[in-house]
Amino acid sequence: MPSLKYFFINIVGTLLRGFPLPAKTGLRKIGNPDRSSPVFLTCNYAVSVERVKKALEGMDCYLLVANSNGINVWCASTGGHLSNHSAVSVLKTSGIEQLVDHRRVIFPQLAAAGIEAGVVRKKTGWHVIWGPVHAKDIPRFTQILEDGHRKDANMRMVKFPLLHRLEMAVMWAFPFSLILALLTYIFWRQMLILTVAASWIVPLFVFITFPLYSGLLTGKKGKNHGFYGNYGSYGSYPGPSKEPHVGRPLSGKLGISKYTVLFNIGWVSLILWLVFMLGVLPYSLAAGTLSLSLLLRWGFVSLSMMLLVNIDLMGSTPVYKSGLHEERLLKVMLDRERCTGCGICVDVCPRNCFSIEGRKAVITGSERCVQCSACIVQCPEDALYFASPLGKVLMPDTIRMYKLNMMGSRLKKGA
Ligand code: SF4
Ligand code: SF4
Repeated sequence: MPSLKYFFINIVGTLLRGFPLPAKTGLRKIGNPDRSSPVFLTCNYAVSVERVKKALEGMDCYLLVANSNGINVWCASTGGHLSNHSAVSVLKTSGIEQLVDHRRVIFPQLAAAGIEAGVVRKKTGWHVIWGPVHAKDIPRFTQILEDGHRKDANMRMVKFPLLHRLEMAVMWAFPFSLILALLTYIFWRQMLILTVAASWIVPLFVFITFPLYSGLLTGKKGKNHGFYGNYGSYGSYPGPSKEPHVGRPLSGKLGISKYTVLFNIGWVSLILWLVFMLGVLPYSLAAGTLSLSLLLRWGFVSLSMMLLVNIDLMGSTPVYKSGLHEERLLKVMLDRERCTGCGICVDVCPRNCFSIEGRKAVITGSERCVQCSACIVQCPEDALYFASPLGKVLMPDTIRMYKLNMMGSRLKKGA
């Protein structure tokens, strides 16, 4: 039975999803663990801690909470907040080494962009096992592990189901409704109710209907992929760039810029807005409230909100790279000569882009790639790397050393 704390933290976390919500780091005992009990690790985002604890209910195990500055696993690992240091530090200082005889720790799969399993092993002696993407799959995952199997594609894949889309809608709606309510109360009081209503209805509409128009966003990404034709097939190795691209625009000369994507998303916003207004029309007619002034005011407020939500619609989903990130143009490349077919890339890729064929990795789903870099960070043979449309190559060492900030620039860890 979930505790009151679980509900409270989930509600606060959903309303303020865009903000860090730190929990205490360190060791938690779940049930009555003994010296052979499994050890799990998560970040110190309070919502994640509560969700993992709920998933572990009924099990006897240990949970390590590593410092991620109160940010969720995926954002923290790609942004350098959940790092080798966080993992090594909690393994070394929590006292877990005195409590169990084995040295196996289960990490959330989405931490793979930030924590290097090889470094953790070298520094602590602990062997990292990549768990499922979602905490709710932990019980099934531990069963699969006990049976000696690997996790299936469903447990590895990040999706965007209705519940997650509703959470994202609330993430936009709650803070914006507060800010806009305050502004309209001061400057345009008769628009107060209309503005607050639009702040909630528009994001809900945008995210609930997402599957209906997401193909339009895919089309744009496909167009960008065309620039990679110069590289030929996967496996051709253009050689390391003398000047690895770090924190500079990739596009300029080709005329591709992040604003291209913004304008493209603008079309999506416009179509969504027109559909939204078509829905408002019959409603106003039925309610007997239709007037030109009402339509104009609804049109203005809802279009403003629609444009606001669509500024980074792709970045609000886990299935696209942010439209504000120039790095969405990078493509994962494979050096087949180096690949040993170990399957780690298959295990950590949240978009199921890889398969193993003939003891070699094959990139079978590059169109799904969200450039998270987990596969490159974890590949023990350095067989994977990013290539840009301009012929630059981003080598594994650079990717491990530099992390993405919110605006998509690569910064040195901790900078
Ligand atoms: S992780 Fe690297 S070496 Fe292992 S299968 Fe993937 S590409 Fe090959
Ligand atoms: S293939 Fe793309 S989505 Fe998959 S792990 Fe690599 S960078 Fe991430």
